[in-house]
Amino acid sequence: MNAVNSSSFPSILQVQNLRATYYTNRQAIPAVSDVSFTLHQGERLGIVGESGSGKSSLALALLRLLKPPTKIEGTVTYNGGPNLLALSQAQMRTLRWRDLALIPQGAMNSLNPVMKVKHQLRDVFAAHQQDWPADRVDDHIKEVLGLVGLPSTVGELYPHELSGGMKQRVCIAMAILLEPKVIIADEPTSALDVVVQRLIMQTLRQVQAKLHSAVIIIGHDMGLMAQFVDRLAVMYAGKLVEIAPVKPFYRTPLHPYSRSLIAAVPSTRQQRVMAGLPGSQPPLAQLPTGCAFHPRCPFAVERCRREIPPLRTVAPERAVACHLVETLPHD
Ligand code: SF4
Repeated sequence: MNAVNSSSFPSILQVQNLRATYYTNRQAIPAVSDVSFTLHQGERLGIVGESGSGKSSLALALLRLLKPPTKIEGTVTYNGGPNLLALSQAQMRTLRWRDLALIPQGAMNSLNPVMKVKHQLRDVFAAHQQDWPADRVDDHIKEVLGLVGLPSTVGELYPHELSGGMKQRVCIAMAILLEPKVIIADEPTSALDVVVQRLIMQTLRQVQAKLHSAVIIIGHDMGLMAQFVDRLAVMYAGKLVEIAPVKPFYRTPLHPYSRSLIAAVPSTRQQRVMAGLPGSQPPLAQLPTGCAFHPRCPFAVERCRREIPPLRTVAPERAVACHLVETLPHD
């Protein structure tokens, strides 16, 4: 899909003011704060940010997989239907895997070590598509294993007989078994070496193109993201601070935090000084007043310490949460 015209495709997921709050005995911790975005059919949206920025909480909140006492509020609409957050647990279970699938973080470690791969895939099928005869299910499993680049014989193996990359492919196979229209992949390449990372991302891309699914990929490797997504959303301290098509984003990141993420990416084409970002992200339980980025921002002014900047559209398909975005200098 062309990144620039992604919005010309119909939307498949609309997220409005999504909030996820963890409650402890002493306080409420805002893991996701008023996140809004639209995902288009067949689109690949990357969500990036440092550890603890709320990326994984966002993925789990979209599918209502955060356990109480966490509270999830806002509106998540799939394919023009009702708010997912208002559905019963039974209705939600029907949608998961079939319409919206998750490849969770560390998915390959969640495979059952004492079950053959094909039995684990059959279990997913049995939970949602009971009217298929066994031989049709097995044929479909072989087909899906082929789709993720695995021979059908892998179905006869146990997880410990597979490499990390193969296990991750099995997890992708599991997620796409019912041909969902939205796939959410949370750090799908973590704990894999760089070569395998690239192959896994390529597999995800091929699968997504074949099924015409939309994919949300959560990660922190800006270089890897640049090659595989159409649009990028940047999270900081539980909020979206910038969302933009990938090419203009890498060419001209607008939010000061996005600029520092790009400045830290090594480039083989341009000679540039790699710059780190001083300090660390504030704990979600102790966010500073105003813009949460102000203690680290080289451009912060008094207003930044007082007022939270809203995410606003500043160019076609670009939205940024920064009071000063129009006046910031560019290199
Ligand atoms: Fe920096 Fe202020 Fe913009 Fe926040 S609002 S990113 S502190 S300039």
